[in-house]
Formats: sequence, structure tokens, C-alpha cells
Amino acid sequence: AASQANFMRVIVQSEPSRSGVELLCVVRALLKKIKRRVLVGDKVVVGSIDWVDRRGMIENVYQRSTEILDPPVANVDHLLVLFSVEQPKLEPFTLTRFLVEAESTQIPITLALNKVELVDEETLVGWKSRLQSWGYEPLFCSVESKYGIDSLASNLRDQTTVIVGPSGVGKSSLINALRSNPRASDAVEGDNWLEPILGSKWLEDQRVGEVSTRSGRGKHTTRHVSLLPLSGGGYLADTPGFNQPSLMKVTKQSVAQAFPEIQKMLKENEPGKCAFNDCLHVGEPGCVVKGDWERYQYYFQLLDEIRIREEFQ
Ligand code: GDP
Ligand code: ZN
Repeated sequence: AASQANFMRVIVQSEPSRSGVELLCVVRALLKKIKRRVLVGDKVVVGSIDWVDRRGMIENVYQRSTEILDPPVANVDHLLVLFSVEQPKLEPFTLTRFLVEAESTQIPITLALNKVELVDEETLVGWKSRLQSWGYEPLFCSVESKYGIDSLASNLRDQTTVIVGPSGVGKSSLINALRSNPRASDAVEGDNWLEPILGSKWLEDQRVGEVSTRSGRGKHTTRHVSLLPLSGGGYLADTPGFNQPSLMKVTKQSVAQAFPEIQKMLKENEPGKCAFNDCLHVGEPGCVVKGDWERYQYYFQLLDEIRIREEFQ
């Protein structure tokens, strides 16, 4: 199929440090046969290694800790939800939908607001306390004026991050600002950034590596995504993630888990749960979740939307 035309780049490391050797790999036929798709971000076993030409074959894939589909990346352990304060203006309900979609992956989230140079400090202080009341600690940045980029970068350290957010907020600009290493560029042939390493240490049969990018002729059929190594350690997907939350994985019962306010109330109240096990926190008797918080109306609205979707499924 389409993946036949694809090579995967695998970064093979002797130790979990920054430097690694990049191998251009094909996927073992058996893996294709059992329909085990290899994703960018996968930890894999590489064999049949030719260290001179830097070729190899992916022979096995490790269990994934997470898997997201948009973009298709395995083992993502951090989502950066990016919005702008202006242009486009921060819309609290839109932001809530993104946060709910992001929370439903159960991957840790950082919330960052871009284009802060467009507004005054008072506006930012206002957003900060408002978002804190939602249960988030926002980071402020401006790709334009380079404000906050360093602290964002250190926030991404040693993790594999995908940036999500609506279009126009500056996701691509931020990825470019954080792009620090040409290693994961698109070039397949003729990239000679690598010093040949032929020490005895490398001459074993198999290695564990990490798929950094998929490239080759299948590019126009599969969505192309690479992991950019960040200078402080960690990786950033070079393709932004979903820019429209579908909420397809969110159910009536799970939407409450995506609201830190509800989780906090459940934790703070004895006995830590509502009278009914399947309580939806919309005024049932014995419910410990009150309705006096800003996003309660959004919670209600999303619950309705999901209820309607579930009825028509
Ligand atoms: P994406 O759709 O989220 O990938 O957004 P882009 O990265 O394409 O950026 C959309 C527009 O916002 C572009 O014209 C950028 O130059 C601009 N932009 C990005 N960051 C900033 C910023 O910090 N301040 C301002 N004023 N504009 C920015
Ligand atoms: Zn309840």
C-alpha cells in the first residue's frame, strides 16, 4: 500500500543523550502483514543495519504510551494548546472546546497565549486570573517580539510535544521559532550532517531507536510529520495538531473529567463523590458539584452537544 513507498528515519542512540545516529529504514514485511503501522514517535527495534550507508530495517515496534491521530504521532507526552489574545481574539468557549479535546487524550497540557504584544498588561493580568480559575496556569508569549519564547522552550524540554490551536494563532510561527536543528529536515539524499561513527559499540546486530520522520514518495498520500529535536532535549512535531476539536472521543460521562473545576470540587467535597455514580452534575440530588463557576454554562452546552451526537450515532 502507500506505506510501501515510505522510508522512516530512525534516530538510534547509544545512551539517552542528545547525539544519535540517524538511519533510513524500511519496515519489515511481517509488520505490514500484521497491519502494525509504524508511526512517527514510535520506539522501534532496528536490525540489518548498514552503518556506512546508514540504512536499516524496522523489525519490531514497542507498545505506545499514547497515540494521537491528528497528526499521527505515537508517544506524545505533552500537548501545547496555543491561542492568541488578539487576531484572532481569544474566545472562551472555543478555548474550552480545545481544552476539552486536549484533556480527553489524557496527555498533560500546557496552555500558552501568543501575540501578547498586541494588548496591554491589564488585559493579560485579567486573562491570567480568569484562566487560573479554570484550573490552568497560562504562559504568555509573542513570537513577533520573541517575548516568552525561551521559557516556553524550557517548558517543552525532554518531552515530545504537539502544538494544537485554531488557525491564525501562530502555531507555525512558533514551530519555526523553536526549530533549532536541521536534523529532521525533509532532505533524504545528500544530507551529510552526520560524522560516520563506526566504533565497536555500534557494530551490534540490533538497536533500539525512535522514528523521527516518515519520508519518501508516499508523502502526498500520507500526512507528513517530523519530530524536530529541540536544543534543550525533547522533540516538537513540525506539523500542528487538530485545529478544530471534533470531541468524538468525549462522552457524556467523560466530559466532566475534562473540567479541572469539577475535579477540584469532587476532591474537596466529602465524600468525594456524588450520590449517583453516573451523576452528570446538572442538579441531581446529592451532587457535590455546584453551579457557581464561570464555565458551568460551557460544561452544560458541551454536555448537550455530546448528548445529541450520541443519540444520532
Ligand atoms: P497558525 O495558523 O496557527 O499556524 O498561525 P501562523 O503561524 O500562520 O500565524 C498567523 C499570523 O500571525 C501570521 O501572519 C504571523 O506572522 C502572525 N503572528 C504569529 N505570531 C505573532 C505574534 O506574536 N504577534 C503578532 N502580532 N502576530 C503574530
Ligand atoms: Zn454530581
